[in-house]
Amino acid sequence: MTLGFDLDDTCFDWVGKLMQECKKEFPDLDFFHRDKQTEWDFSSNYPEEYRSRINAIWHRPGFYKDLPLIPGAVEIYKNLIELNHHVMFVSTPNRGPNAGHSYKEKYECLLDNFGSDAAHSLTLTYDKTHILCDYLVDDKPQIKGKKTPVFEHFVFDRNYPYNAHLPEERKINWENFKTKIPNLF
Ligand SMILES: [Mg+2]
Repeated sequence: MTLGFDLDDTCFDWVGKLMQECKKEFPDLDFFHRDKQTEWDFSSNYPEEYRSRINAIWHRPGFYKDLPLIPGAVEIYKNLIELNHHVMFVSTPNRGPNAGHSYKEKYECLLDNFGSDAAHSLTLTYDKTHILCDYLVDDKPQIKGKKTPVFEHFVFDRNYPYNAHLPEERKINWENFKTKIPNLF
């Protein structure tokens, strides 16, 4: 089987790092808490006047360099490879003329944590519906794009408020992965 793994908030704790950086940037504001994130799009959870500064944080060079791993991701990846499944990593790069560092840093972060085979499988795209795989594991509640997806989408979830409305059978995490897709093991 072929699986696609999203990077941010599936393999790496993107929101965790961004929350920390936002607290430093806005020390007087007390609204950077995970339970406030009812929208997947991070900055849209906050008042309009703060959004451009919030978005500037994750566009800074170096932001993607040392994202913390979400526990269990590497173990499931290695397990799937041992069983001869194909795992590709799929992520959306930053936009804009100065976004090139995000391409490089996503590759390096993957290389450092999952190894060279994983890094070489990285596909960066604005439209994940083009990805050909059997299962896509991605925290975004809905994957939309130009194509009708061929994959089954499992929504990666660690009690993310923006996924609270979804049925449990669509959700997955690294702890329950094997019981959610038992045919892989
Ligand atoms: Mg994601």
